[in-house]
Amino acid sequence: MGVTDVDDKIMQKANDVGQHPTELARHFEAAFFADLRRLNVQPPSAVTRVTEHMDEIRAFVEKIEENGLAYAVASGVYFDVAKFSQMDGMKYPKLREAVLSDDGESPKADGEKKSPRDFALWKTSKPGEISWESKWGPGRPGWHIECSAMTYSLFGEQLDIHSGGVDLCFPHHCNEIAQCEAHFLNGKEWVKLWLHAGHLHIDGRKMSKSLKNFITVRELFDEMYTGQPTAAAADDFRFFCLGQRYRSSCTFSSQRLEDAASLRHRFQRFFSLCSSHVEAADQIKWTRGSAELREMSDRCRDKVRRHLANDFDTVEAMKELSALASDTQKLLDARDGRRPCTSSVQAAADVVAETLVHSFGLHTGQDWLGQSESSATMSNALDAEEVLETLLKFRNDIRSKALESLKAAKKQAKKSDAGVKEAHEHTMSLAQQLLVLCDDARDAKLPELGVRLEDTADGRYRHIVEGKAPARLEEQEA
Ligand SMILES: [Zn+2]
Repeated sequence: MGVTDVDDKIMQKANDVGQHPTELARHFEAAFFADLRRLNVQPPSAVTRVTEHMDEIRAFVEKIEENGLAYAVASGVYFDVAKFSQMDGMKYPKLREAVLSDDGESPKADGEKKSPRDFALWKTSKPGEISWESKWGPGRPGWHIECSAMTYSLFGEQLDIHSGGVDLCFPHHCNEIAQCEAHFLNGKEWVKLWLHAGHLHIDGRKMSKSLKNFITVRELFDEMYTGQPTAAAADDFRFFCLGQRYRSSCTFSSQRLEDAASLRHRFQRFFSLCSSHVEAADQIKWTRGSAELREMSDRCRDKVRRHLANDFDTVEAMKELSALASDTQKLLDARDGRRPCTSSVQAAADVVAETLVHSFGLHTGQDWLGQSESSATMSNALDAEEVLETLLKFRNDIRSKALESLKAAKKQAKKSDAGVKEAHEHTMSLAQQLLVLCDDARDAKLPELGVRLEDTADGRYRHIVEGKAPARLEEQEA
């Protein structure tokens, strides 16, 4: 994920509030990632800041200039659209027809650009502005070039998927493509797949700062969900998003969020109904309803997969899950001997929960997937053997110290007078208490967890995790 931490808007705002532009950018970057966490969005594997990639960006611009597709003038370095378009196999813009609009990259001193279509790769700084040295004098990168240069530094000359809002299609993404093609000159498609997300509207208007028509994530959580668990708010917003195709624009309203919340409650009721049925195990007899439910679950799993493979059609996928949940409930209420057995109910709830949790990243369904899964995640995150070794070594160190102190105190106590003797006896008692705790861990606590531990005569220990290879300890002992 790329972070623009220097551009005209940041510099303007920093100037207005009397803050350093980088400091201001860091503040909003931190707020953005805090919002992602609230929304339960996984963090990106790599984050690239413009200010940390100046060398890569300068080199990228130099290469385009070297290839004859950029020119330097007093106000900066510009991409030569006309020259690029005349080259064999090159096209600009590539993603859609050009719309000549002010993209915020036009130079103030006009007449310098050869054509209004040319866009800035590097901008000469005015006195007092934040700047970086370059062969064209002090300046800063144009907005478009950062994405081309930073992704190149991480992924090389080709990307599988590039995403962004649909408003970035032109000019931003078209310029990114042109810059990369002008740099690599390799005749390959730079990006294999573009993924453009639709706009979020409020009351039918595009959510935008300039229209003062927006709700922040923080407001959503703090005002609309006061006192409620974060997981519920994150899930409701996610259910709302899953209810529309990512490509289409969607309208946010509190009514729609309420609809999402009632969908969440419906799934929660479904899981608790399945739970009580499975826990009670009141019917394990296979019935006609059991077979029906099995078939429905298998079909649902298939259909969900197919809908998601169809350009992430979450709308249809959610409909399938809702249908399976309500069909399960109907069968559980059936009075005609079709009531499904425990294992069929379990299978149906598994399909729903696995999709909600694993495919859609919701909290809803996590309880159902339950203990087994959360402990599996634990063991993924921790190396159980390493943790065990550390604890055993810790116990052994304490035991050795206790034995040492006990021995020393016993020796001293014999030849001491009453007052000092008492102090030594106190030490002895403390050491004995520690030894009892150590023995208790060896003889009771650890065996309960399946770990057999043996203290050896030389003050060391050996252990084995029972069940995994119980024979090995016997071998060692023999
Ligand atoms: Zn970009």
